[in-house]
Amino acid sequence: MYDKQKFWNPVLETLPPEKIKQLQLNKFKKIFKWTYERSKFHRQLYDNAGIKPGDIQSLDDVQRVPKVEKSMMQNIQRKAPFPYGEALCVPLDEVTIFRQTSGTTGQPVYQPDTWQDWEWWMECWSYILWAQGYRPQDRVFIPFGYNIFVAFWAGHYAAEKIGCEVIPGGVLDTKARILKIQELQATAMMGTPTYILGMAETARSKMDIDPSKLTIEKITCAGECGASIPSTKKRMEDAWGAKVYDHAGATEIGAWSFECTEQPGGLHVNEALFLVEIEDVETGEIIEEHGRRGKMVITALDRMAQPCLRFDSKDVIEWAPEPCACGRTSRLIKGGVVGRADDITKVKGVLLAPSAIEEVVRSIEGLSDEYEVIVEKVGDTDKIKLRVEVMPEAEDQCPLIESELVDQLRLKTNLRYDIEICGCETLPRYEVKARRFKDLRKKE
Ligand SMILES: [Zn+2]
Repeated sequence: MYDKQKFWNPVLETLPPEKIKQLQLNKFKKIFKWTYERSKFHRQLYDNAGIKPGDIQSLDDVQRVPKVEKSMMQNIQRKAPFPYGEALCVPLDEVTIFRQTSGTTGQPVYQPDTWQDWEWWMECWSYILWAQGYRPQDRVFIPFGYNIFVAFWAGHYAAEKIGCEVIPGGVLDTKARILKIQELQATAMMGTPTYILGMAETARSKMDIDPSKLTIEKITCAGECGASIPSTKKRMEDAWGAKVYDHAGATEIGAWSFECTEQPGGLHVNEALFLVEIEDVETGEIIEEHGRRGKMVITALDRMAQPCLRFDSKDVIEWAPEPCACGRTSRLIKGGVVGRADDITKVKGVLLAPSAIEEVVRSIEGLSDEYEVIVEKVGDTDKIKLRVEVMPEAEDQCPLIESELVDQLRLKTNLRYDIEICGCETLPRYEVKARRFKDLRKKE
């Protein structure tokens, strides 16, 4: 039976690194030619840089191909062929589904996919779910508002594809979703860390249900980096009595990485389907060695309708040192996506990644899952305010909690914070993706 096999694709997931590189080069040549010949937008970009399909002879040559930024896509869309504009590589008739990016960083980008692209999305997600232990015996609950955002759509179809039984939790509210999980004894689910923690809080405080006593065994997260932040992962695992796995993907890229059941402290890049390059933010040099952070430039090697070629994703990542114990030969990125290049900011001359603050807050007992960070300029000085919520049972320990926060934050981020400890449920709650980091200096 195929459900006994360890890998979703036993050939591609165990290719020796040199073979993976050869495959990536062959695929890159093909998708570059496809795009050059069909997308007016890309052809102009490449002609301006003086590079043509025949010029790509090695993976080093790939670095000569200009990057595409989100803002470029925003500029060419809403024009003919309407609404996608000149990066569309297939006749409009062949587009079978519309999605768009969430628009948290400006005007949303429209994303057309053909039926073939959608098959590819499902395939990408099948690698993820298989690596996280999903098998045909699983009953998967999807607590997700099915709409124009790609989010867990492909996770839903991939779960069906590998043979699981899927329960679409669509328009149900949180309480109804929890009851359905209980009623049907679902074994797995998917959500953003913010929502997974919020669901557990609702179950405990409003329904008197202990989520760890439900039947959920594994949870796949996406949309935020939380599942790769050890203290946030632990909070989710404790709350649900389940294994929690991370995955990173994006509407305009695809589902490019995943954690496996070894939980190696990082995500596998699906290198047979994606080419990931890490670029030094300051020098633009491509980083091959482990332990050095940079921003990701990514190519989806098989996506056809609106290709993703050397997309400047702004995700900050670094290569991990060792191959994973699971036997997959694809490389790992350490600690998942560490942040967004836009969010990593200099405060008092020190580089600050918001995920480092989350790691500290969620590691301290007595605090709720919510917090808020506000960076502002007072006079000539940057000030960071951190608001946290104390749980009712820990209210008498506030001075202790505050001194632990100050110490840990100084250790992990090298900065001082004004700390405000608020009562429970005073900070904003978020339904899907949270915006807990507010840099007020950027608006000036
Ligand atoms: Zn692994």
